[in-house]
Order: sequence, then C-alpha cells, then structure tokens
Amino acid sequence: NDFFEVSLGLDAEAAQKEAARCLQCKRPLCVEGCPVGVKIPDFIRVLKEEGADGALSVIKSTNFLPAVCGRVCPQEKQCESRCVLNKTGAPVAIGLLERYVADHGSVTVQKTDEGRGKRVAVVGSGPASLTCAAELARRGFAVTVLEAFHAAGGVLVYGIPEFRLPKALVQQEIERLKQFGVDFELNTVVGKTVTVEQLLEEYHAVFLGCGAGLPKFLGVEGEGLNGVCSANEYLTRVNLMQAYKPKSVTPVQRGKSVAVIGAGNVAMDAARTALRMGAESVSVVYRRGRDEMPARAEEIHHAEEEGVRFCLLTNPVRFVGGERVEGVVCERMELGEPDASGRRRPVPIEGSEFTVPCDMAIVALGTVPNPMIARSTAGLAVSERGTLLVDEAMRTSVKGVYAGGDAVTGAATVILAMGAGKRAAQTIAEDLSSDDGK
Ligand code: FAD
Ligand code: SF4
Ligand code: SF4
Repeated sequence: NDFFEVSLGLDAEAAQKEAARCLQCKRPLCVEGCPVGVKIPDFIRVLKEEGADGALSVIKSTNFLPAVCGRVCPQEKQCESRCVLNKTGAPVAIGLLERYVADHGSVTVQKTDEGRGKRVAVVGSGPASLTCAAELARRGFAVTVLEAFHAAGGVLVYGIPEFRLPKALVQQEIERLKQFGVDFELNTVVGKTVTVEQLLEEYHAVFLGCGAGLPKFLGVEGEGLNGVCSANEYLTRVNLMQAYKPKSVTPVQRGKSVAVIGAGNVAMDAARTALRMGAESVSVVYRRGRDEMPARAEEIHHAEEEGVRFCLLTNPVRFVGGERVEGVVCERMELGEPDASGRRRPVPIEGSEFTVPCDMAIVALGTVPNPMIARSTAGLAVSERGTLLVDEAMRTSVKGVYAGGDAVTGAATVILAMGAGKRAAQTIAEDLSSDDGK
C-alpha cells in the first residue's frame, strides 16, 4: 500500500546461485529473444567469475539502461521465453540477474571524437532519446535533449510508477549523461516553443523520440463526466507531479471505488496506483479473457495479490452518473472466432447488461503519437495511425531528421524504443561523417 518498490530483486548469494543455473549454451536462444541482443551467457559467466563490474561492461555494450530493463522488460515474452531450461522447468531469471548486475556494478564508458562536436538535437527524453543521446555523446557529438515536461525520463518518470521503477535510478542515468556533456533543455515543446525547421538551422541533425503520449478513449456516452480520466493523465499527476504525497500542491481526486478500463501494463499500473491512493475497491474491466490480457504476467500477478478485482469478458458500453461518474454500464462477452490479430473476437451476450459502480473511472486503452510535431513540420510523413514513417535506418522523409521509439511503432516497450534510439544514433553518425555538414 505504499510507493516503495515491490519487487526486491536478488541478493549476492541468490544471484550467484541463479547464475550457476545457466548452461552457457553454445547457441544461446535467449539472446535471439532479446530485441537488442544482450550477450546473456557472457554476462552471466563474467558475473560468476569476476563479479558485477565486468558483467555490467558486457551488458552495457548492447543495453544502455539495464537497471530499467531488468525491472520492466516483458522477459517472459522475450529473453526468458527462449531459455532452453523452459523445457525442464523454470528459465534462468535473466531479468533479475541483469537488474542485480546494474544495481551492483559500475563501469566507465570511454568517449571517442568521431562526431567532432557536430550538433544533434534529440527531441523527448524517454528511453529512445536517452539511448540515442548516450550513443551520440559517446561518439563525440554535441547533444542537446529538448523535453516538453519539466523533468527528463519520458514514460520512465511520468508513466511507470515508483513502486515498479524507482525514479532515482532514472535520474542517475540522466546525471551520467549530463556528466558526459549532454545538455537538457526542459519545458521545451518542439512544434510550439521551437519548430523542427528552426532546430535544423541550429543543429546538424534532429532525432524525434517524442513517444506516443496521446490517450485513446472509448468514445461512449458519459465519458465526459467528472471522475472519468485517462490513465496517462492519472499516472502523470500521481508520478510526475507527486500527487501521492500528502502535502502535494497538485493533488488528484482519490476515488474510493475505481473502475479501470483495459488490461495492459498501463491499466495494471493505474489499478495498483489507485489502491495506493486509498481506493477500497478497484476493478479492471476487460472485454477479452485472461489469456488475452496484454500486461506482463508479473504485473497481473502483483495486481491480483494486492486485491485488484478482474471483470473479464466484460465490455464497457457507457458511463452513468449525475455531475460525477457513478458507474460503468457493461455487457458480458463470449469469445467467438479469431479476428485479424489471431485472438478470439469477443462477442456481446444479448441482454447481459449490468453496472460496475464506481466514483472514478480510469481509461487505459492505449495511446497514439501526439500530432503536434507532424503538423508543424512540412514534409514529415506519417502513417494513417499518426506514427512517423522511417526507413530501416530510422531516417524520416525530411533530410536530417530521424525518429524512433513509440513515435514510430505506436505504444510498445522500453527495450524496443532503446533499440530504435541506438539504430538512429548509428545512422546519424554515419550520415554526418559522410556529409560535409554545416
Ligand atoms: P516516451 O517514453 O513516451 O518519451 C517521449 C518523451 O517525449 C516524453 O518525455 C514526452 O514528454 C516528450 N515529448 C513528446 N512530445 C514532445 C514535444 N513536442 N517536444 C518535446 N518533448 C516531447 N514498457 C515496457 O517495456 N515494460 C513495462 O512494464 C511498461 N510499462 C508501461 C507503463 C505505462 C504506464 C506506460 C505509459 C508505458 C509502459 N511501457 C512499458 C511502455 C514504454 O514505457 C514505452 O514503450 C517507452 O517509454 C517508449 O519510449 P519513447 O522514448 O519512445 O517515448
Ligand atoms: Fe531480457 Fe530485456 Fe535484458 Fe534483453 S534487455 S536480456 S529482453 S531483460
Ligand atoms: Fe543460459 Fe538459458 Fe541462455 Fe542457455 S538459453 S545460455 S541456459 S540463459
């Protein structure tokens, strides 16, 4: 019921025991399951033989934020899902080992002068941008990060709650980047405060890592009632604006009976946050079944343990109330034939309407990119979904402008955003070295 980290990780003895379980496979399938190809058997071997410093240096050669990934990667769908030990029992706890190494090791990264001080503007400060900035700064480029909010870190600070990812860890990485020479300009909304065209006059290249922060809504009756809000707004107010502190200058409504619509990581974070904000009952309302819930297994497990109630195969059709929301009218669903996504389509059961009473409803149905930058930048190509279009090397349709992370893929994962930031940095470095530049 508090905001301290829930999952405590491994101690030294448990880490060594877990590392000893790794078979050091000649063809490590676990590495194929990691979107950035962390050298998993290598870091585990070095952890056993030399300790955390050496192991961290192996991990950091491919992953800039292991303390974050060790905590929030969906390992059960990535590296750990491919571990050969799944055939006989539990996989090696790769995420927990990565977290242990990141929390206990230290490493010094060397700078090169490949970039010769050429200037790059990095828009946004989430995992895509932080990785891009780190890779470019390491190569000797002069990097400025421009962030709309008053704090850097993107979803890592405004979305994922403290009890899952302590903000001090993210701050530590940002301080390291500052020591590496990266400048941070906060409260700077690109597309309003300054345009991409203006940035191109001042910088040799621009990276857009502006995420997908615009929430989707159901579009049903009553969604405008007081007490109905998006998970993004709720989590930003509680995490970034620290509304959970008793003397917060920006308090939020503390619902007693809360309905959360959706079943992804964002929904689990909102539900668990609402409990910590004093709710007596929190119900997750989801139109498909348990197997289809998109959240990480660990988050669902923790939510259940903490007392969140799951209303599955339940579709919200309207919100009801007077001035404030008083309930969500729902219909029961059954699973029909698979749809285009391969998942069985939920079909309403006629005459099954019932009401989930609530004094607060949090809508967590996913997000799309904010159109502000695309609308204010001539020639910047976007998809029908509003995501920025890039080639394989992360170049956009505008020369000198690159993009990656959720702004390109739509809402995805931290590690995919980091992989994109790294690929873009590589392309920027190559393009600027083959370019006479300004
Ligand atoms: P973001 O992290 O969204 O960062 C974008 C940044 O750009 C923001 O700081 C924003 O303020 C800034 N920005 C936007 N527009 C502008 C502008 N015009 N000018 C200047 N700055 C701008 N992923 C996982 O892997 N595991 C999880 O457990 C997990 N849980 C999540 C929980 C929540 C609540 C949320 C919302 C997401 C979660 N995700 C999780 C998804 C993951 O956090 C994102 O995929 C990832 O952060 C995307 O990184 P990014 O750098 O592309 O964008
Ligand atoms: Fe696994 Fe994520 Fe680490 Fe890759 S970065 S090894 S997917 S925890
Ligand atoms: Fe170790 Fe599993 Fe990877 Fe094999 S697949 S190297 S056992 S973590």
